[in-house]
Amino acid sequence: MRTLRGQLVLSHILPFLIVLPLLTLALLVLIETQVLLTSLTQRATEQATLLAQAVRRQSNVLDDPELAQSFVAGLTVSLDGRVLLLSPDGQALASAGVDSDSGSQTLRSDGIATALQGETSVLVSYGLDGQGVEVLTPVIDASGRVVGVVGVIKTLTGLGSLVGRLRQIMIAAVLLEIVLGVMIGLLLARRLARPIDATASAVVDLAEGRPMDPVAEQGPREIRQLANAANVLAERLRLLEETRRRSLANVVHEIGRPLGAVRSAAHVLRGPAGDDPAIREELLGGVETQIERMQPLLDDLALLHGQVSGDVTLHRRPVAVSEWLPPVLLPWRAAALDKGLDWQADVPQHLPMLDVDPDRLAQVVGNLLSNAIKYTPAGGRVAVTVGIEGQEFWLSVADSGPGIAAEEQQQVFEAFYRSERDRRFPQGLGLGLTIARDLVLAHGGRLALDSQPGEGSRFTVYLPLTA
Ligand code: ADP
Repeated sequence: MRTLRGQLVLSHILPFLIVLPLLTLALLVLIETQVLLTSLTQRATEQATLLAQAVRRQSNVLDDPELAQSFVAGLTVSLDGRVLLLSPDGQALASAGVDSDSGSQTLRSDGIATALQGETSVLVSYGLDGQGVEVLTPVIDASGRVVGVVGVIKTLTGLGSLVGRLRQIMIAAVLLEIVLGVMIGLLLARRLARPIDATASAVVDLAEGRPMDPVAEQGPREIRQLANAANVLAERLRLLEETRRRSLANVVHEIGRPLGAVRSAAHVLRGPAGDDPAIREELLGGVETQIERMQPLLDDLALLHGQVSGDVTLHRRPVAVSEWLPPVLLPWRAAALDKGLDWQADVPQHLPMLDVDPDRLAQVVGNLLSNAIKYTPAGGRVAVTVGIEGQEFWLSVADSGPGIAAEEQQQVFEAFYRSERDRRFPQGLGLGLTIARDLVLAHGGRLALDSQPGEGSRFTVYLPLTA
């Protein structure tokens, strides 16, 4: 009973096994009280009334016990049950019938008293010790005196066979239900167990590190939800694993290269060339540059860690964009011009105030510009434009670089994603866009990408204007 199959079978059979006997019992009681006892009472009352009339016509019957006995003995041939004759003082004169042995004990004194007062007494008994009816009718003479009592006692007979038949029907119904219950339960269990087993074994595969095949989402709603949850879980794990691999590869790649340069410099410095002040100066300068290049990578990693652990808090304050933006763009302008790029920046005066964290927003702009400059070949163009549209402030960074393929436009925002094409470019863990997007989202805004391969890319930051 510990399997789904067993429990389903049991749940189909058990209620029936409990309910059916109770139902049969209730049916029996209903038939006895509402049908059998009622008709028995009716018959006994009619017979007692007729007998009382007969006795009144032959009143000498009551004077002689022998006569009385032969009178009732003659009657019970045609009457079922038991017939009694009582004297006016309530003593039994004669009795005869099918249950004459036990009959005298069932006569109840309250019934006799009622009959002796001139009224018919009908006493119905229904209990464990028997079911029957006892009718006592007074025999009243012409002067209105009670000269005797006629009693008719009937018990419910033939009930044994009724109970027996009901029991047979009940057993047959229970057996049928067991067979049907087992069949339906097994069928249902098979339908439920199959997708659950498939999902369970897929999750076990996942837990043990094997690749998980997608589970078919079929069957009842809850099972479909379970299969869907397993599939979503597997996909998330796959993405996480992919991100983990990418992050490791990127970290090894990006930190390994400057470390290699530093090690080579140290090696040369140890040798005779290290004694030459000019060479030493040049090598130490190179070491410094490599270390400086590593710093932004570590900053990005630290920021990403902060975002993942929810530690990034924004220090918002009212910022006048027209004044804040030009100094932020300055170093990037220099970098672009250095690389031989055409630089355009259009920052109108009198832009509205924004309620933002200016350092974080500068980081967003920096990450977008750093990419634009990094990925656009010399001779290309980088342009920054800002404006207002509806209830939003927007800032866009456009370049004439290689652009981003449609299928990559989602992925570039994933942590540690770097296009294979761009591995030749130095610096970058594949975190710049992830961090930029998360910071914009933290400001309640959004970061959009519009790009055509071969024609360049445009990243636009949208921020809500506050009242
Ligand atoms: P990183 O620049 O460190 O690789 P990012 O998250 O900033 O990481 O960018 C992810 C990827 O998106 C880059 O590797 C590159 O393939 C692509 N990308 C980002 N900006 C541009 C751009 N302006 N032009 C073309 N490709 C870009």
